[in-house]
Amino acid sequence: MIQTICFVVFWAVQASALLVFAVPFAWSLVALWAASHFLRAIGLTLAFHRYFAHRAFQMHRAARFFWAYVGTAAMQKGPLWWAGHHVNHHRFADREGDPHSPMVSGIYYAHIGWFLNDARHDRVGPNNPVVRDFSTVPEIAWLDRYMAVPPISLAAAMYLLGGFPWLVWGFCLPTMTLAHATFAINTVNHLFGSRRFETHDESRNNPVTAFFAVGEGWHNNHHRYQRAARNGFYWWELDPTWYVIRAMAAVGLAWDLQPVPRRIYEEAEAVRRKRASMRAPSIVDAVPLALELSEDVEPV
Ligand SMILES: [Zn+2]
Ligand SMILES: [Zn+2]
Repeated sequence: MIQTICFVVFWAVQASALLVFAVPFAWSLVALWAASHFLRAIGLTLAFHRYFAHRAFQMHRAARFFWAYVGTAAMQKGPLWWAGHHVNHHRFADREGDPHSPMVSGIYYAHIGWFLNDARHDRVGPNNPVVRDFSTVPEIAWLDRYMAVPPISLAAAMYLLGGFPWLVWGFCLPTMTLAHATFAINTVNHLFGSRRFETHDESRNNPVTAFFAVGEGWHNNHHRYQRAARNGFYWWELDPTWYVIRAMAAVGLAWDLQPVPRRIYEEAEAVRRKRASMRAPSIVDAVPLALELSEDVEPV
């Protein structure tokens, strides 16, 4: 029964994004879409992913509830469910047991199917580290149980503030785009992109998904070293979630930010050098064929 409700609600919200065509276009509505998409993306990545699943930093209890609430408004179920499954993703990365691997269960199941029917790989039990450590925190357990409250309150607020256009551009459309921005990390980032590290999974770095999922697209980096508070390991790798964590640390709302260890940077450099040496043409390859032939027939 719950599976059916989940299925119907998910597809109803996805389809509701089409209502943008029923609203006269305005750039202010695009700004509203961006605010709703990217703010909730920060909630998911900062709280659900880097904090609950990976413990990449510590944060103030009120800030934790705020970001967990914002993340839950993304309609991607509760923080314990989300982060608990994510721990299993890393544990079994692209092997049997990974809840959403395009290699194991195909692209549709890895993108959406698993989310709508988690019974197949549902291993979030009491021993899961996320459930074990955070289900005893009353406000987090409440959010996980009443996960419908944040999205419904957002939808209601949008409608009350700006009527039908705000409901569509501030809730329906960004909820759809954020779902795919998040799910793309599970599919696109295990299929398309570059591999800085030679990890045992198929994780890849992809700047496009990094943009729409506020830094999560540096997924090969992340699979190599999950504990870091940043997924963009270099300044040129856009990682808005990391900037927010640093801003929170600057005002005392976050602390114990886990860095990328020096050995990981050295490993990246070693892989880069190894690949560069494999690519460099040898002196023999560099000699033009015609020159070799003309030397062959040179009179002695
Ligand atoms: Zn992954
Ligand atoms: Zn992760």
